[in-house]
Amino acid sequence: MHRSIRLFKEFQIEPLPRIPRRLAFRTAISKPLLTVKILRTIAAARRFRSQASGRMVLVPTMGALHAGHASLIRRARSLAGKDGAVVVSIFVNPAQFGPKEDLSRYPRPFAEDKKLCASLGADAIFHPPAGEMYRADFSTWVNEESVSGGLCGASRPGHFRGVTTVVLKLFTIVQPDAAVFGLKDFQQCAVIARMVRDLDLPVRLVFAPTVREDDGLALSSRNAYLTPEERAEAPTLRAALLAARAAFSKGEHSAAKLTRIVRGKISAGARVDYIEAVDSATLKPARVTKRGDTIALAAFFGRTRLIDNIQL
Ligand code: AMP
Repeated sequence: MHRSIRLFKEFQIEPLPRIPRRLAFRTAISKPLLTVKILRTIAAARRFRSQASGRMVLVPTMGALHAGHASLIRRARSLAGKDGAVVVSIFVNPAQFGPKEDLSRYPRPFAEDKKLCASLGADAIFHPPAGEMYRADFSTWVNEESVSGGLCGASRPGHFRGVTTVVLKLFTIVQPDAAVFGLKDFQQCAVIARMVRDLDLPVRLVFAPTVREDDGLALSSRNAYLTPEERAEAPTLRAALLAARAAFSKGEHSAAKLTRIVRGKISAGARVDYIEAVDSATLKPARVTKRGDTIALAAFFGRTRLIDNIQL
């Protein structure tokens, strides 16, 4: 059984076929470009939904698309089949950024994103301006109150409130049958799974594995911020998590010892935000880890905060 299948048992987690990342990306962008509809308003998205037939699959993103996003779009394409429709949302959601975070400098290369979506066979991009999603007097929020509390939720207050609110809005606007998210944002998957369960949302969730650089660094739109020196140190996150998993496999189950191993392997130049071993569904901290638990971490390289996780 693929190791991530145990995670969030009630939802489907799809291992992706092993295509070398660079090859997959090049193939995608060198294909002849197909057309993709650009939907900038909620009304246009609703119209698109009412005219579509077959299964509708949504891939929510903030754009600056890379091969990790591409793997999600490919997965969505295969879930939708030739009769269904794939909608990629590209929306840099202000509600999930803290006041001192990178909202204004977040990359927005829309023309390139559009080409990639088209080449991957997406049918539409939902790309609304912020004012379309949040009116000036917007005042209704969705708050998940358990899974979102620790890890990134502890160091980014309000972040998951922004995520759940925008994802619920995207679900009600696009009305997908299924939505694809990446396990790179492991806590986000858990929070959305809880919201879907608690609010009985009729959306099937598919969680896809993390796509990485050859040196193990998880692809992220934020990697572009790294200086060459920081970029050279960032793969120590993955190496540290692999070392902890190797120790777990050899019988070390103490969460404190495993997280100490992780900390010891992360380059000295990084500032660790958190390293925690948690139950993969509840995200409750583990004292003694078991198979299927997750070690999650966040660390700053300069001003850039990177996250990663591994399942034991
Ligand atoms: P973002 O644009 O960062 O909000 O990410 C949009 C979606 O892409 C989320 O579901 C992420 O988890 C997913 N994603 C981001 N990076 C990767 C990656 N390296 N591999 C797989 N999925 C990813």
